[in-house]
Amino acid sequence: MPEQARREELAASLAEVRERIARACTAAGRDPGSVALVAVTKTYPAADVVLLAGLGVTDVGENKDQEAAAKAAAVAEAGASVRWHFVGQLQRNKAASVVRYADVVESVGSLRLASALDAAAGKHRDRPLDVLIQVSLDGDPARGGAVDPAAGRSPAGAAAAGGSSPAGGGAAASPGASLDPERDLWRIADLVASAGMLRLRGLMAVAPLGWEPARAFAALAATADRLRADHPDATVLSAGMSGDLEEAVRHGATHVRIGTSLLGMRNTLR
Ligand SMILES: *Cc1c(COP(=O)(O)O)cnc(C)c1O
Repeated sequence: MPEQARREELAASLAEVRERIARACTAAGRDPGSVALVAVTKTYPAADVVLLAGLGVTDVGENKDQEAAAKAAAVAEAGASVRWHFVGQLQRNKAASVVRYADVVESVGSLRLASALDAAAGKHRDRPLDVLIQVSLDGDPARGGAVDPAAGRSPAGAAAAGGSSPAGGGAAASPGASLDPERDLWRIADLVASAGMLRLRGLMAVAPLGWEPARAFAALAATADRLRADHPDATVLSAGMSGDLEEAVRHGATHVRIGTSLLGMRNTLR
């Protein structure tokens, strides 16, 4: 597609997404400017990031280190500047690469990864790295993410423990169930908050498959309230994607991560 046509396409979808965010804010009684957009550009080329930056997008999300590193270099080469959010599962051996281009890592779900990022940031950056702890709302070990062991004791968490969904409430919602200390949200929060090269900014989550988004984001909001009680600067709540941004905004999201609605359907064969 010629660049001008792509620019017009992106401008139109960006206007629609911004309108959806503004409407969701109004419906929730929130200031329309209180929710930031992170454009998730995975699988799309650096040229799209450059066009989005030209249209006023300031924050971009990626989920694979190799792709993100190359894209960040190409975008910088083109003279554009955005804040890069890493939102994908991250192996510790990629920490040194990610800290070189990422402004925010939204997907910290273990003590080990937090320590690795702190060490890597100490070597490869001259300023601290912003961190969000990724919360696993269903406790599924395969998907990663930190678990709030107190979630089952909140009203929202108690509802999540009902067991009627295929996800079954999971370990996250069962008080007293054994929790891998590596994934204990409160231990990770304390580690990040005390790490010299990390700044604890808040939480990120994806609504688990098979869950009502409202249930997922209500549980997340309860955890975010508790986090802010201990860490008043951890005010970011990154929740909501193309399919569920309205529910996320209703439950206090400060950032929504939008891919499909902005850039189009991704090729799932990739
Ligand atoms: C891909 C992705 C998104 C964007 O999802 P869409 O449904 O395309 O808007 C958001 N968050 C994460 C963590 C992702 O991997």
